[in-house]
Amino acid sequence: MPIYLDYSATTPMDPEVFEAMKPYFMEKYANPSSIHSLGRIVREDLEKAREKVAGAIGAEAHEIIFTASGTAADNMAIRGTAEMFKNKGKHIITSSIEHKAIIESCNVLAKQGFEITYLPVDKGGVVPLEEVKKAIREDTILISVMLVNNEIGTIQPIREIAEMAKDKGIIVHTDAVQAMGKMKVDVSDLGVDLLTISAHKLCGPKGIGVLYIDENLKQDFRPLVVGGAQEFGLRAGTESVPNIVGLAKACEIISENLQNEIKHITHLRDLFENRLVNELGDVNINGNKDKRVCSVSNLGFRYIEAEALMIYAEEVCCSTGSACSSESIDASHVLYAIGVDPIDLHGAIRFSFGRFNTEEEINKAVDIIKESVIKLRAMSPLSNK
Ligand SMILES: *Cc1c(COP(=O)(O)O)cnc(C)c1O
Repeated sequence: MPIYLDYSATTPMDPEVFEAMKPYFMEKYANPSSIHSLGRIVREDLEKAREKVAGAIGAEAHEIIFTASGTAADNMAIRGTAEMFKNKGKHIITSSIEHKAIIESCNVLAKQGFEITYLPVDKGGVVPLEEVKKAIREDTILISVMLVNNEIGTIQPIREIAEMAKDKGIIVHTDAVQAMGKMKVDVSDLGVDLLTISAHKLCGPKGIGVLYIDENLKQDFRPLVVGGAQEFGLRAGTESVPNIVGLAKACEIISENLQNEIKHITHLRDLFENRLVNELGDVNINGNKDKRVCSVSNLGFRYIEAEALMIYAEEVCCSTGSACSSESIDASHVLYAIGVDPIDLHGAIRFSFGRFNTEEEINKAVDIIKESVIKLRAMSPLSNK
């Protein structure tokens, strides 16, 4: 069996989540909008799930909108806010290391006459607060900065950004897809108006996301998808009840076990990094080591090509750049933004860890990677080793 170190791309489902979902395929299959008895039972379960998800992020149940994915929630946040405030201003601030779901949503708006400022990040991959302050204008309507980056795991100062925005009446969104389950995520602590999560990054099912919308904003928010009154009229379409129940279970597991899980994953990540850095040499850790979540290790292996390493070490599942951009040969926009030396850009690999990884797997993966790097360096004209 391959060793799966790609939890940032997606995660295996937790067996407890799978168990929780099962009844909703062949027993409790009714449409929650149906008014017959079975529909009402499913409706009740759906609303219980909404409460659990809300509880996990410190929100109220009526502030939780279920969407088709994290990507759909990001689109809804950016494009919905732009639609709502377009008469107030047309300036949006985001960062240069966002997920494509945010970048492309901003690109769509740019074509409609919105102006987008992409904040730079420092060498560690963190947005400097001075840059946010400088970027804010009279006509700024929205700031969207991710809580945790998916390629290097760095944590952004969202609370401080939200504080700056609040006095000026600017809406703040954060993509917390990679943060959930790896640190405390609480909408009141963060002070955000909008927040995105996705179940399949949390040992939950694929194809279900959440957009948290603060109740004050929700009143006048506009749907992107129309055609039904579901989700408070903000996201039409029959609710994916099995996925929603699965997401709620995934959130519940996290709420109960967060500290233990962080400890487990940190231990594995540190074991992995320390062994490779010490035993191989010429291995750089990309991104600020002290301001990142436990689950991601983005390593630059000098003198070799990441793709070649992935072929040599094929038993280890990992990513070059981000999984979503694996079809393009462009180097990662995130590593580029943090100023990784161009000769090192192509030797960078993201390893990401999670609930079901074991110490034995990590040691085996290190052995395989080490052996592959040594072979590749022996062939590299850049290396003298
Ligand atoms: C995975 C991911 C998304 C997209 O979520 P999907 O549910 O896969 O659409 C958005 N943002 C970040 C940071 C992600 O890691």
